[in-house]
Amino acid sequence: MKEARAYKIKHSYKVGDLITRYQWILQLAIDYIWENIIWIEKEVINYYTVPKTEKNIKLLKLQGKKFKVYGRKIYVYYVAKRRIPRIPNSAEFKRKLRDYLQAFWKKTPYASHYVDSAIRTAYWILSSWRENYLNGKFRRRKPVVKKRFARIKNSLFRVRDGELILTVIPRGLYLKFRLDDKWFFDRVRDWKLGEIILKDDELILMFTREKEEEGFDKVIGWDMNIFTMDGYGDEVGAVKISLKELYRIHITYHNKRRKVQRLLNKNPKQAKKLLKKISKRERNKVRDLIYKLTTRIAREFSDYIHVFENLNKETMYNRSKKHNRNIALHDWRKIVEVLKYKVRVIEIDPKFTTKTCSRCGSLNTVVKNGTVKCLDCGLEIDRQLNASINIYLKGKGLEPSLEVWNKLIKS
Ligand SMILES: [Zn+2]
Repeated sequence: MKEARAYKIKHSYKVGDLITRYQWILQLAIDYIWENIIWIEKEVINYYTVPKTEKNIKLLKLQGKKFKVYGRKIYVYYVAKRRIPRIPNSAEFKRKLRDYLQAFWKKTPYASHYVDSAIRTAYWILSSWRENYLNGKFRRRKPVVKKRFARIKNSLFRVRDGELILTVIPRGLYLKFRLDDKWFFDRVRDWKLGEIILKDDELILMFTREKEEEGFDKVIGWDMNIFTMDGYGDEVGAVKISLKELYRIHITYHNKRRKVQRLLNKNPKQAKKLLKKISKRERNKVRDLIYKLTTRIAREFSDYIHVFENLNKETMYNRSKKHNRNIALHDWRKIVEVLKYKVRVIEIDPKFTTKTCSRCGSLNTVVKNGTVKCLDCGLEIDRQLNASINIYLKGKGLEPSLEVWNKLIKS
């Protein structure tokens, strides 16, 4: 299995023109392929339902429609036509496409390999559009490139003596980045630099390698809470990371939104515009903070396997629909998602991680005022610490027991 990690480097090179032109050639590639898509009409049988009544059945018979009766419903069948896109990808077509784009690109000073990279990206965008279209998620509308980036394929960069060199203009302009002084350098020493995405102010480096067998890595379990991430790990014991700043951002923007909402009746158009702006700012703030936070965690616990509760399952056991909690849940998922790019993450079933006594494994506990009290072994422990130990143990594949506790858990 392939394992991938992404790291960012900020830069201050002026690459705006390259990115603008790349975006333009990428859109040209999409346009060209789009115009050559062959739409195959296919008949598919659909149905709608009507209630089962004598009158309906009579009517349908009269109209000569095909139908079946199941339970209390009548399923009425009809033939619909669906247009299935076939994206051209023959070698000949690709050559034509390349020549067409190259004619434009030649007028720029930039390396011709950017055209190949744009073609690859265009195919990637269109095939993901196609998949969504076939699933009924997207309409039959040509994808438009809005994000500013340039994908740098491997013929456009090389790494030598710890330095990354990107070709912008052959024998003219190269961008140089030291990698060996970056915090992540040691962590990807034997990895392959697969792909680079160049943005106006940053570079995203994607490293890949074949996944190794599970080794002897240390394990840390994380319990997610509104104000804190509570960890328990090998060697380090209990760890607490504050999420208050994240919470503060949500409160600030929540208040801003409330103020604008009062304007909604007076000037709905302007208010909606403002609300959109505020939400966007909030998202950006939250995203930036999550990147910072996860980078810090990845640095501090780089050689650990990080264990989290499966937060998609979480709602099954915890149906509380408190507003704050739902916002936090969204952030937690994002934290785990981003961390997956930086460290090894495993997710475990969240069932009973709060209620189980982490010392003896009993469910005969009382959770009150932030403390878990075990009625069997008498343990009294912080609720979040108890949960993080349970998550840590699950991550190690261990059941809580006195023996395990005495061996592994510091007290
Ligand atoms: Zn106990």
